[in-house]
Amino acid sequence: MNIDTCAAIARAVTTGMPLLSRIVTVTGRAFARTGNFRVRIGTPVKDVVAYAGGFAETPEKVILGGPMMGAAIHTLDVPVIKGTGAILALTGADIGALRRTNCIRCGKCVQVCPMRLLPARLVRYSERFDAARLEKLHVMECIECGACSYICPARKDPLQSIRIGKQRLRKAK
Ligand code: SF4
Ligand code: SF4
Repeated sequence: MNIDTCAAIARAVTTGMPLLSRIVTVTGRAFARTGNFRVRIGTPVKDVVAYAGGFAETPEKVILGGPMMGAAIHTLDVPVIKGTGAILALTGADIGALRRTNCIRCGKCVQVCPMRLLPARLVRYSERFDAARLEKLHVMECIECGACSYICPARKDPLQSIRIGKQRLRKAK
């Protein structure tokens, strides 16, 4: 649990106050100014960006959440929700080093997975949606930590494919 979540739980238990706002880390080289801001739930991301001073340069990619577990967004017209811990804006120079190639079967994703899953194979079965194999390989045990995406030298971003596989499996059930 991060400390903001712990504080929110304490507030809810001791006062009955639901979660009305959360601390959002605004960071990344594309921002003119970075910092931590307390933001009301439901505030549009574009308003948070404007409050932080806007972009110093046009971002190549904006990610809601951190670099490990976050997901890229295609518009700033989305709200801050309870899980929005950060807004990360990356520049073209940041992304330039992250070009994706085919899986080189290095096995690094397997070595780092704290749940002892086989991320590379989960990616394969998520992409072609093989429900039986996904279940056999315990895809639902993935805790979405992002370690496999972080370590992957091919920049395959296994987590994103696995997330989609989990969603499709849930829907199929
Ligand atoms: S995101 Fe899932 S598959 Fe990847 S390392 Fe974490 S637990 Fe393992
Ligand atoms: S770390 Fe990336 S390149 Fe290596 S096996 Fe896993 S998915 Fe393939």
